[in-house]
Amino acid sequence: MFQQVLILGAGPAGISTAVEAIKKGFSTDEILILEKFDEVAYMISSKYPDEKAVVANYKNKFADRISGLRISDMSKQEFMAFMKGIVSEYQLNIKYHQTVERISKLKNGQLSVQTSNDVYLTNSLFIAIGTMSAPRTLSVSIPSTVSEKIFYDIQRIDNKIEKILVVGGGDSAAEYAKILIDRGHRVSLSYRGKAFDRMLSTNNEATLELIKEKKLTFFSGTNIEKIEDHEGKPFVTFKELPQGEEFDGIVTALGNERPANYLSSIGIEMGHEGDDIYSASSLEGVFFVGDIASVKGGGTINIAFNSGVKAMVEACTSYLDCHFESEKK
Ligand SMILES: Cc1cc2nc3c(=O)[nH]c(=O)nc-3n(C[C@H](O)[C@H](O)[C@H](O)COP(=O)(O)OP(=O)(O)OC[C@H]3O[C@@H](n4cnc5c(N)ncnc54)[C@H](O)[C@@H]3O)c2cc1C
Repeated sequence: MFQQVLILGAGPAGISTAVEAIKKGFSTDEILILEKFDEVAYMISSKYPDEKAVVANYKNKFADRISGLRISDMSKQEFMAFMKGIVSEYQLNIKYHQTVERISKLKNGQLSVQTSNDVYLTNSLFIAIGTMSAPRTLSVSIPSTVSEKIFYDIQRIDNKIEKILVVGGGDSAAEYAKILIDRGHRVSLSYRGKAFDRMLSTNNEATLELIKEKKLTFFSGTNIEKIEDHEGKPFVTFKELPQGEEFDGIVTALGNERPANYLSSIGIEMGHEGDDIYSASSLEGVFFVGDIASVKGGGTINIAFNSGVKAMVEACTSYLDCHFESEKK
């Protein structure tokens, strides 16, 4: 099956790339999105806490108005409705439950993209799979007997996990701590810094208030030295504190990494780190879009929307027969 525009991942970056391809004159059946899971923006749907506010300038990162797609501050539910609305408005073709197993270049210059049950051919492939599948982990070893008590988001944390340690000092750590406290958990926060200078001011203020009100215990300037199993619970020793503490669960909010192992396993090596959007890969005609191409510290939804526009402009100059006159569509 030949596709003019083939996109991996139906998150903000993949959806923006598809919309931009339509604006550049491609019909909906010339564009295909392969999504690993069963929902548009699955990572946001599954990893953001339901109570979370989706913030436009997350991590204080402001995105210029480049894409026609843009969010303002809204709830997670409003964001998911917004994404579903775009899919329906542009009649985007998304194939769910697709796992790519191999990407290779054919002798005729086309890219071959092999999934478990199909092979797709294309001249331009946009990889927009994000980084949320590769959360940064704690740098200490974790006994296998307590590994189930370590979480990378808070969606699966239930009431039985009463006393929780959140590790991190950015916006996610602040949001997790606040939401868990509101849900009735006993929460502590370990951050290697002393001040929350990476957070949005709203999160900074809310966190300081929780500490002041003694609703949040703050282990300031701490690094975890080891985690042991104490009767099935993680017991944490901090380098800087004289005694350790037992928790029912630990949530890490340390950001994400590029899924480099997965990419390498399917035949893709990433090139240089782009300063925000696309970066060259080992295969010509392959573009990285969204978080996967973002600089250290991760991107935002509006930056991901913009990246689809930038990548499509780049692809149109070398790989695609785009029709700029239809751009106002
Ligand atoms: C906890 C947390 C809170 C955040 N809060 C905000 C916020 O309030 N505001 C904001 O602007 N940004 C926020 N961000 C950042 C924002 O979520 C990302 O910048 C944005 O989602 C990046 O979009 P993307 O399309 O590049 O990647 P993603 O949103 O991760 O989308 C990737 C898509 O690809 C799919 N996929 C994954 N692997 C594969 C594969 N192998 N094959 C096919 N498909 C695959 C996924 O299921 C998903 O649908 C937050 C991030 C985190 C982790």
